[in-house]
Amino acid sequence: MTAATPPTGGTRARPEPRADLALMAGYHSPQLDVRTRLNTNEAPGPPPSAFVDRLADVVAEVAWHRYPDRSYRALRTAIADQHGVAPDQVFAANGSNEVLQTVCLTYGGPGRTAAVFEPTYALHSHIARITGTGVAVGERAGDFSLDLTEVRRVLDEVSPAITFLCSPNNPTGMVEPEAVVRAVADEAPGLVVVDEAYGQFAPWSALELVDGDRPLVVTRTFSKTWSMAAARLGYLVGPAWLVAELDKVVLPYHLDAVKQAAGTVALEFVDDMRARVAHIVEERGRVTAALADLPVDVWPSGANFVLFRPRERAGDQVWKDLVDRSVLVRNCASWPRLDGCLRVTIGTQEDDDTFLSALREVLT
Ligand SMILES: *Cc1c(COP(=O)(O)O)cnc(C)c1O
Repeated sequence: MTAATPPTGGTRARPEPRADLALMAGYHSPQLDVRTRLNTNEAPGPPPSAFVDRLADVVAEVAWHRYPDRSYRALRTAIADQHGVAPDQVFAANGSNEVLQTVCLTYGGPGRTAAVFEPTYALHSHIARITGTGVAVGERAGDFSLDLTEVRRVLDEVSPAITFLCSPNNPTGMVEPEAVVRAVADEAPGLVVVDEAYGQFAPWSALELVDGDRPLVVTRTFSKTWSMAAARLGYLVGPAWLVAELDKVVLPYHLDAVKQAAGTVALEFVDDMRARVAHIVEERGRVTAALADLPVDVWPSGANFVLFRPRERAGDQVWKDLVDRSVLVRNCASWPRLDGCLRVTIGTQEDDDTFLSALREVLT
């Protein structure tokens, strides 16, 4: 940034952003031009071509001069049917990040606090702060599991309006045990948000805990398992009374007609999605087993990525050496609590073999 010299002829100082944003860094994930991209947990392949064809037909019918269906009834109903809930228990937005933002705008804000347990998804605390919500940080145990004693300490100390859980947790891959999520759901004073961006890769889902009453929501996304990161679509399932509050806060017509169509059509291809997920889970087993033969520590994953830490070399250097071999993984080496760790997304068999042989070369 250069000094605040006013442009020619101008006399007014530049407006300052909100003071509480001044110390915040933006969300950062480098997108380098490499052959093998395994850094953002996307699906390795596109949705089926029949989906693309169907969507093209539907898009051809869009009434472009009209606003879209404000309450996105077709999409809402299709998502609700997937999960066996009522349409008024579903809230969708532009990526699950916008779902989380709407939750924070509605239930957080100035004078309220959100609890997170680190290390976890960086956007939970980031979005909370942007919405003026205070953030209370609890620590996970050394093996990255949630420690209920620590959870209770944070709940008692700050009485959070929102408690964020993430299962499987990003970036550790750990699936929270059902008993732990149930305990938090029973004891948290406010709203509990379970971020299940990777839910379909895991053996159980907190969707079982959603009912008409309990202040608990589960968020999901089309960005990972549905191979639709380009669409920017996510949703939550929760009690209808809560969804009604979110509907008041989100901008009118926030979901455009094409996105509504993309989501609705995607749900017709649920079997393809399940087959892709099953394949990735199998691939995850293969990559995890291969990593076990290398000098790295590996954390068991219930998601489509694996966290590992080189034992004999600095994570940062290993990351650079992989980039030199045109393989990009996520560099978590300098993140608090993740000293030296890297996170690799499960890709196609070919991507994963490229990654594994590059890593073998770098480490030996
Ligand atoms: C990728 C990811 C999301 C997805 O966000 P979108 O805005 O739906 O793309 C949400 N939560 C977690 C934990 C993630 O890793």
